[in-house]
Formats: sequence, C-alpha cells, structure tokens
Amino acid sequence: MVIRTRSTSGREWVLGEVVGSGSEGVVYTVEHRPGLVAKLVPLVAEPDVYRRRVESLVRQGREPRTVKLLSGTPSRLAWPLETLATSGGVTGYLMRDMRQAFLPFERLLLPTARRESLPEMTWATALRTAISLADLLADLHAEGYVVGDLKPDNLWADAEGRTGLADIDSLQFADGQRTFLCRLRSPGYTAPEGIDSDALPDCSSDNFVLAVLVHQLLMGGLHPFHGRPVDGRPYFSLDDNVRNGRCRITDREAVVLPRAAPPADLLPRGLTDLFTLAFGRAGRGDPASRPDAATWARGLRAESRPGRLAVCDRENLHVYTVERPWCPWCDQQERGGTTWAATDTGLDTAR
Ligand SMILES: [Zn+2]
Repeated sequence: MVIRTRSTSGREWVLGEVVGSGSEGVVYTVEHRPGLVAKLVPLVAEPDVYRRRVESLVRQGREPRTVKLLSGTPSRLAWPLETLATSGGVTGYLMRDMRQAFLPFERLLLPTARRESLPEMTWATALRTAISLADLLADLHAEGYVVGDLKPDNLWADAEGRTGLADIDSLQFADGQRTFLCRLRSPGYTAPEGIDSDALPDCSSDNFVLAVLVHQLLMGGLHPFHGRPVDGRPYFSLDDNVRNGRCRITDREAVVLPRAAPPADLLPRGLTDLFTLAFGRAGRGDPASRPDAATWARGLRAESRPGRLAVCDRENLHVYTVERPWCPWCDQQERGGTTWAATDTGLDTAR
C-alpha cells in the first residue's frame, strides 16, 4: 500500500513501507528518496496545533538558531525538513533516515544486542557516547529546546560513540510568543517532579533523565533505580523507586540487585559525585540543583582523557578507570555478569 502526501510547496511525496511506529505516529520509507523517511501522526489530540508545531520546526530548521545543532556529518537530529499532509488531513513531516548512520540507542543497553551490533564496543566507547549525548542536550538547551520525552526509543548511536535524536516533533520550544508544550512521559525516564503530575518538563527534568541514561551506558544497561526494595516493600516500578529514592548510588542499602549487575565502585569518584547530585535527596527534590548537561559533558570528558583509562592485560575489550586497582570486568566475567568481551554471559535482565 502506498500513501500519497503533499508538502506545503505542493510537491507530491509517495510513502512506502512502515519502518517504525510509536504512541505518536508511524514512520514510512519515501519512494525514490532512500536517505529520507516520513512520519505521519494520525491520532494526535489537536491536529491544528500539531501542524503549526511542525511548520514552526521546519521554519526554525532554516534559521540561525539551529545552525550549530544541524551541522556535522552525520547530522545529530532528525529535524523536520518539510511538512506533509495526506488528502485525509493527516499531518506529518519528512526527515533524515537515522538508520543510515546510526543504530537504535536501545541496542547499546542490552548486552546481547550490543555484542551483536557493536562487538568492539568498550567502556571507553560508552564514555564517548555519554559525552556525545551530554553535548547534544547542552546544545539543544542552549537554543531553548527541551526534549521533554528523552528516552532510549528517541535516541540513536554509532560505533564511534556519536549520538542522534529523533522525534523532534515532541520537543518543547517557543516560537515568538507561542510555546509548544511537551506533555509526553515515559516510565523510567521521567524526573521525579513529572511522575503522576502535570508539571511541564524543563531543562532540569531533561538533566535528570540524562543522568539516568549516562548511568545505563556506563553500567551495561543497568537503570540507576533498578532493584527490589530491601525494606520488604514490594517492587512496583522504576518510577516508584525514583519517587522513594531507591538508588544504589545514593543509598547502598536501598535495593537488592541481580548478581549480573556491575558493581557501583567501577565508577570514578568524579562521576559518582555527579550521580549523587542528580539522584540524591537534593537532586530529586530541587531540580535546579542537578548537574546540567554541560557539567556532565565536562565530567565525562575528564574521565576519558589520556591516562584516565586502563586496559586489562587479559582482555583488550576490558577498559576501566585508573582509579580501580584491578579490572572490574574480569570480576564480572567470573561472576557471570555483564561485561564487554565476546565471552560475556551477562543477562539482559540487569535493566
Ligand atoms: Zn579484564
């Protein structure tokens, strides 16, 4: 089945097979344009507002505000290039096909998928990916864009540690006097003030989720609020653990983790301090006190400088901070836990 759409200029774009879908829309290939895909959003609550939102993004994509964001190859953002509409009135947009340069970010967080897609990836690559993600978020925030629904599903990554962001149509941003809001929330990727609340996201809520994603990258996919409460209460959800501050980094006695989970002390002290600021009582209760994206980028860069990383003498895919006296990934391997070598026996359930 083909879908015929028209851009604002009147040009026809024919859409082909479905390559992805989410709660908000469906992504299709575009006939005769292998570098592009199109997203259509048929079930949006306020179609007129959505169309104006996309038109605004298309316009801003040609303005100085987005020059830095959209520079570089491969482009980091699947920015809306043209507004599309079907004859039935469904709105959507054309964007770059991120699959040409990137893998779904999720694959980096699942040990089995990571070994298949990025067999050479090490903890140094994870650090580079985290730096790239922090830079991307810092650059978006500097131009007044809040991601709002930051989560692995919207992110892309490659073997060099570069990252990208899609679903640009859900960003929260201003256009003159008008602000286009983001009301989407994703379980496990919502700052405490947004859980079961109508509070709008801001840069601070993105910064909380950035800390969650950095933790997952550096800890073989482990979510920082994963774990069964030790106080005997039942486990409900990651969000419930977030609300109650059940995080191993800030309270070693708060949760029981699977045996396969990497140890907290494989993190260098500088990064443990940043996680503590983000996830501790202050970071959960006072959003403005969380480290911002630029602070994360600086802290992560400091740990990937020459001389800060050691390579295991038994397995060259084992890279770790020089603050550790011996290789934590060899320990993990012996325990049958998540690690970085081809012999990894880690369980995907560590998330
Ligand atoms: Zn080792």
